[in-house]
This record gives sequence, structure tokens and C-alpha cells, in this order.
Amino acid sequence: MNLTATQEERAIRLHERALVWDSHCDTLMDIAAGKRTLGERSSSGHLDLPRLEVGGVNMQIFAIYIDSVPYLRRTLEFISAFYREAANNSDRIALATSIAEIEDIVSRGKIAALLSIEGGEALEGAPAILPCLYRLGVRALGLTWNHRNQLADGVEEARTGGGLTTLGVETVAQMNRLGMVIDVSHLAPAGFWDVLKHSTQPVIASHSNAWGLYDHPRNLDNDQIKALANRGGVMGINFAPHFLGPVGDLEAVLNHIDYIVNLAGIDCIGLGSDYDGIAATPAGLEDVSQMPNITRGLVARGYSDNEIEKILGKNFARVFAQVMG
Ligand SMILES: [Zn+2]
Repeated sequence: MNLTATQEERAIRLHERALVWDSHCDTLMDIAAGKRTLGERSSSGHLDLPRLEVGGVNMQIFAIYIDSVPYLRRTLEFISAFYREAANNSDRIALATSIAEIEDIVSRGKIAALLSIEGGEALEGAPAILPCLYRLGVRALGLTWNHRNQLADGVEEARTGGGLTTLGVETVAQMNRLGMVIDVSHLAPAGFWDVLKHSTQPVIASHSNAWGLYDHPRNLDNDQIKALANRGGVMGINFAPHFLGPVGDLEAVLNHIDYIVNLAGIDCIGLGSDYDGIAATPAGLEDVSQMPNITRGLVARGYSDNEIEKILGKNFARVFAQVMG
């Protein structure tokens, strides 16, 4: 990517002043396992506070990935690990539970963090416990990972490919009532369409790409993207090279953004890096400190300042403002 000096200056200034919102990372897995801390720059993984600061990211969603039983205890362990790290680094990061809190935290020069659960297993079959998770600060939930759970089928359940169960429908209703954002990344297509049918609020796909550009099952097809956008939803571009295409580099990330903008407009696209949840990262986006390269690339591709700010964070902020307030 070759930028003129003027473009380079514009990109840096824009990235600096924009709300830069990453809607998915799995860093809490390492943190909860005690492998590293959020406060120190690590030689492993892709994301920590020093690298978020260099990368100019000021709103990070931390996923609580439900990887083992007992599920609810795992959920609480992840939340506790986040609380501990936030307390240890209270001058640099804070939990946000509303848009007003995000704005306040960011205006103080700190990084705002939102908590999201990745996998409805966390509910252990009881959507009735959602208000407790909400009180703990959780503001989004992905109904499934790749497999089947009590709420729905994930994308790897291609043989059955079922939609939402009765509990899944109840969970959607409960989340709508509470003001929690529903995340459809990883859901099998039938479940995706069920969520759109039942949810009264816009939904997000926090870390999903375009199937029309690269036909990986984790990517959303054109009809899904258009429907998500028509309902006011937003999808975050996932940096996993194997979701991006044969060459999963920075240009491929920009290609997915271009494709989605052309298909469904500028208001439905954001960033969902999946850092620390992916084994490999794209050339040019090796870790979160490289995030300004996205802005450079968007400048190089001719996007306006307003469009770039939407992609960097304003679109996700719009949905969360509407749903969680
Ligand atoms: Zn994921």
C-alpha cells in the first residue's frame, strides 16, 4: 500500500481521533488461564493493553468463550479474571455497560471494555439467569459456537443445521427485554434467520466475513448480509486468514470491507478481529498494534473520513446505543 505524505498524515489523524471499536477478541482465555496479564506487553498472543494503546483501539469487546464444563463456573471465572485485570490497570481500562460509560471512559483517555459471552452453554439451559449475567456487566451473547447447544445449532452442524430451539427463542426475547446485544456469528443459517424473525432489535455478527467473496461456512452469504443490514445490524470483519481467502492478508481484509459496503451499504460494517482466537494473523495485521493499517488501507481505497469513522467504530456504537442504551 502506497500512501502519499498527505494521505498518511490524514490516516494517522483520523485513526487518532476516531472511536476504534474491535467487537471480538479471545484474550480472556490466556488471562483466565494465568498465562499472561492484560497490563504487560506479551511476546505471545495478539492483544494486551500496551498493544491496544499503540493500535489506537479505544473500545474492545472481550469474549467469554465457553470452552469447558461446568459452563456457568467457566463464565464466572472469565468475568472474575477480567475484573482482576481491570482493577490492576484501572488507569488504562474500565468496564463499560452503556454508551454513556463508553464515551466517558474514552474521553478520559482510557480503553473501554465490553463483556460478551461466546456460547449459550453459559446459561446451562436457563435463560432466566440472564439478568444476573447482565448485572455482572455482560452486554452481548453469541447464541452458539460452532456446535449444537440447548439454544441452537452452530455452523459445523451442517448435517442437521437446525434453527433456534424453544429455549433459544426465549433467550432472544429475554435479551431484547434486558437490552443485551444478540450475536449471530457461528450460528447455522437456520438459526440466523430465526433470530432475525424473533428479535425486535438489530443484531450483530461480531466476527464474520462475506461468503460471496470467499465461501467458508463461517462467512455470511449475500442474503444474510443484506438482511442483517436492513434490520440495522452490523458485522465485524474477522482477521482469520482462513476466513478471508487464499491469501489472507491486510488487502483481503479490505476486500471483504469493500465487498460488504458495495453489497449492503456503509452502515453495516465494522471490525471484529478475533485476535487471540485465531492461530494465524494476516500480514499487515500481525497483532492489534497494527490496527492503524486498516485506516491507512481505507484511505488508500478512497473512503471519506465519515465512512472510515463508521467502519472503525461508529456503526457498532450505533447498534449498542440502540440496544443497551
Ligand atoms: Zn468465534
